[in-house]
Amino acid sequence: MTSASTLIFDADDTLWENNLRFNQTFSAFLEWSKEAGHPEQQVREIFAEVERRNTQVHGYGTAVFTRSLQDTFADLQRRSPTPTEVSRLDALVANLVSNTVQPLPGVIFTLQELSSRHEMILLTKGLHAEQKAKIESSGLAGYFETIMIVAEKDVKTYSALLVQHWLDASKTWMIGNSPKSDINPARAAGLNAVYIPNPHTWALEHDVLDPTDDNVLCLGSLTELLAHF
Ligand SMILES: [Mg+2]
Repeated sequence: MTSASTLIFDADDTLWENNLRFNQTFSAFLEWSKEAGHPEQQVREIFAEVERRNTQVHGYGTAVFTRSLQDTFADLQRRSPTPTEVSRLDALVANLVSNTVQPLPGVIFTLQELSSRHEMILLTKGLHAEQKAKIESSGLAGYFETIMIVAEKDVKTYSALLVQHWLDASKTWMIGNSPKSDINPARAAGLNAVYIPNPHTWALEHDVLDPTDDNVLCLGSLTELLAHF
């Protein structure tokens, strides 16, 4: 068992699949673009650039993703979409707008067990209304003493959280799927971390991890936490 008093959980792609929904929508967009004669690689490259730019200016969430699809479309066609094409784009993102999520297998039981032994905090980034809707849909809110929705998860976010909740960094663990938002900034603020990779992780969450860092525990699934905490 690891000495821990507080466990902080990421939500998207850690407690439930999130980016998978976006990937499915993007696949449909690729199909449509292919029909219009645009090779997949070209569409992927343009979209990656557009998305990087848009998230820097507008943040995260379904609205920004939709805007990135529209901008990619306009870039490929070298014109704005027609009303019919706008409707087709809206239909593609319709399943994202509902914000319905399902906890990953074993998550409910794991959180139930861990919440009887540790203080638990949920820390998710994104648009407040969207993240709140997903948390409500998941039915997991009751396992956490504190739920925080933030615009960005960087070292300042973690340092402020330690101060705000009187946490001992050496006994606090950040658990998540994103090297960029969960693991590296938490380690920089002095917390320990548990990295649980998700194969559908968003490209903008990728980052290099230090393989020699003993304060990062790497697990195959959330349920494996029970063997350590
Ligand atoms: Mg995540």
